[in-house]
Amino acid sequence: MDASLLVINCGSSSLKLAVFDDQHRKRASALAERLNSKNAFARIAGSEQAVPLPSGASHEIALGTLIKALKDRAIMANDPCAIGHRVVHGGETFREAALLNDETIAAIEDCASLAPLHNPVNLDGILATRSLFPSVPQVAVFDTAYHQTLPPRAFLYALPETYYRDWAVRRYGFHGTSHYFMAHEAARLLGRTPATTSIISAHLGNGCSITAIRDGISVDTSMGLTPLEGLVMGTRSGDVDPGLFDFLAGKGISAKDINEVLNKQSGLLGLSGQTNDMRSLCDLADHGHTPSALAIDIFCFRLAKYVGAMMASLTSLDALVFTGGIGENSARVRQQTLGHLSLMGFQIDNALNKSHGAHSQGRIESSDSRFPVLVIPTDEELVIAREASRLATGGSV
Ligand code: ADP
Repeated sequence: MDASLLVINCGSSSLKLAVFDDQHRKRASALAERLNSKNAFARIAGSEQAVPLPSGASHEIALGTLIKALKDRAIMANDPCAIGHRVVHGGETFREAALLNDETIAAIEDCASLAPLHNPVNLDGILATRSLFPSVPQVAVFDTAYHQTLPPRAFLYALPETYYRDWAVRRYGFHGTSHYFMAHEAARLLGRTPATTSIISAHLGNGCSITAIRDGISVDTSMGLTPLEGLVMGTRSGDVDPGLFDFLAGKGISAKDINEVLNKQSGLLGLSGQTNDMRSLCDLADHGHTPSALAIDIFCFRLAKYVGAMMASLTSLDALVFTGGIGENSARVRQQTLGHLSLMGFQIDNALNKSHGAHSQGRIESSDSRFPVLVIPTDEELVIAREASRLATGGSV
């Protein structure tokens, strides 16, 4: 293979890497975990053998080691012709993907106060890749960019207006790359063009968000200033009464600990007291564990409420779309959610619903449903590869 595209996603202690060929087919993926700890670990997907990493390996070391391993195994023969990076927060500066240079890197640094846990580590990956491949063009693809089309009524909080003016406090929304992909794939599946297709896109993974897409454009979304707002998630609470903060502070819990609880000990994990993993929760519920069944019930009820809320931004609806690990795989979650939405005209075909699992896309509504309901596997890495190709090589790779 000659020309390849590299896609890089740096998390706080992990690094995911994918190699695409010049036809945008994924050729390999690799993962490094527990970085900056003594148990740092890396492997190439499909290979039993771990790629050895030194104890305490940084993102930069993991990246260099994995690239060398990909080259040694002839998975990536030459340097890539472009590199795409996932960057979590682009603030109001980035309305679309951007070619990386000193100026755009400085602008990403400026957005770091909005995503202090994510942007600095995304930048570490960018800088490490820059020093490994100084002459390869690099592109940043932002989780927030697709939602920059939200109108003020959807993105402003009802707070003193100076908060927005002085501190950029507003709804940004996340999972934009996945929702964008849904807008395009749903249109393709329905035989339409994205610009004339309106959908509600539910991305349900460990993080969960739902977006109203009107004629291909994001017009409302459930995540906010941070990815904490909105739906019930694996470990995040989603919406709670903001008065909770003062209540818990009155119990002597610090701001830092409240944030930790809402982000890491709530959601499905908090409700079930067992796990944040939907598959395990379904098993537990099937074996009579009542808190797990209740956690799933609350998850689906909140999701159904948000489907209703997203309707307010649309004048027509071509499909409700489920994606993400839960959305793609859990027939139970889809069925329970749609069970709350019959008044709006959603009706599910149970046989079709059950037949859709990972890697299969298609329709699951019954013939009397007012709206199509689709299951579509997401592919954020493919979107990043395409954007890297478009911006760095003019689409020639
Ligand atoms: P991330 O947001 O980390 O990318 P994923 O999109 O992979 O996460 O989604 C992970 C979630 O998908 C987990 O809750 C997992 O249990 C759930 N999931 C995966 N397969 C199934 C399945 N067959 N049934 C129910 N849930 C599933």
